[in-house]
Amino acid sequence: MDQFNIIDGKNVFLWRVVLIKISQKYDQNGGCFERTTRNPLSRDSFREACFKGDEDKVKAMIAEGVTNFEVNEGLCNACLGGHKNIVQLLINEGAELFDHGLYFAGERGHEELMRLMITKGATRLNLCLVSACYYGYEDLAKLMIDKGANDFDGGLRDACHGGHKDLAELMLAKGATNFDGGLEGACRGGHADLAKLMIAKGAKNFDTCFTHAIVKHESCFTIACERGYKDIVKMLMVEGALDVNKGLIHACQGGHEDVVKIMLIEGANNFNEGLLHACWGGHESLVKLMLIEGADNLNEGLQAACCSKRENLVKLMMAKGATTCRCDKSSEAH
Ligand SMILES: [Zn+2]
Repeated sequence: MDQFNIIDGKNVFLWRVVLIKISQKYDQNGGCFERTTRNPLSRDSFREACFKGDEDKVKAMIAEGVTNFEVNEGLCNACLGGHKNIVQLLINEGAELFDHGLYFAGERGHEELMRLMITKGATRLNLCLVSACYYGYEDLAKLMIDKGANDFDGGLRDACHGGHKDLAELMLAKGATNFDGGLEGACRGGHADLAKLMIAKGAKNFDTCFTHAIVKHESCFTIACERGYKDIVKMLMVEGALDVNKGLIHACQGGHEDVVKIMLIEGANNFNEGLLHACWGGHESLVKLMLIEGADNLNEGLQAACCSKRENLVKLMMAKGATTCRCDKSSEAH
């Protein structure tokens, strides 16, 4: 899957979702995996040939026999690679997951292929609109809107995440009103200008944890602290973000000493939690800072350092007087 390593984490996740959906679809249809006894390596090379646009190889492998699953996987890859000739071959072979093709063509801004997927029947235009906003493909976003996409709030969030002000403004002009979502995106991407714009528009969810959070107490404020976006952190504090103890934890986890210092000045005093997170994150200078401030949970710190395999911090905690770690090693063995 080398060709996908260049895509960021978010899209690797989406790719997995796509694959799961493809497999479910074909599992449900039954019988479509009859030829999946093929060597998995050969499946990889088919996928790669589609991605690279190697027409001779694709044709040869089709002649040998490919499964429905493979032609659809190939379609996704050819759309990502932007190879219309391969896409056409695969459609002739029965590829039909045009929504997936549309999404992957949109990932790389291949407009002609996007139009082809829509002609063939792709309907999930909003997914593409949001993706175009994230990557900053203004023409493609407009194309999706022309074709009927209307998730302007999703577009606003991802335009703010990707740092594309023109697209954020386009989404606002189209009627996006989820300014908190936009602020979240801007905080994730570290785009202070867009955070400011969202606040000016009325965003107000500064340090309340997201209801959709997967990560523990994730909010605009904690995201900005953990990622070290100092300007946004300050901006949110001016606007009323007050949870400096959570800010301290996340800045310790991310290893951002300047943000940690802001939290300390503003009264954060959960040094023990800060120490644990600095240990987890492997940030020695912050561990030392928390100790100076008064953190005294040395054994917990030892365990955090031990579990996250931070040898230097294990030594530091032992030197400071930690005696017991609840892992299965005796402390002497550390
Ligand atoms: Zn241990």
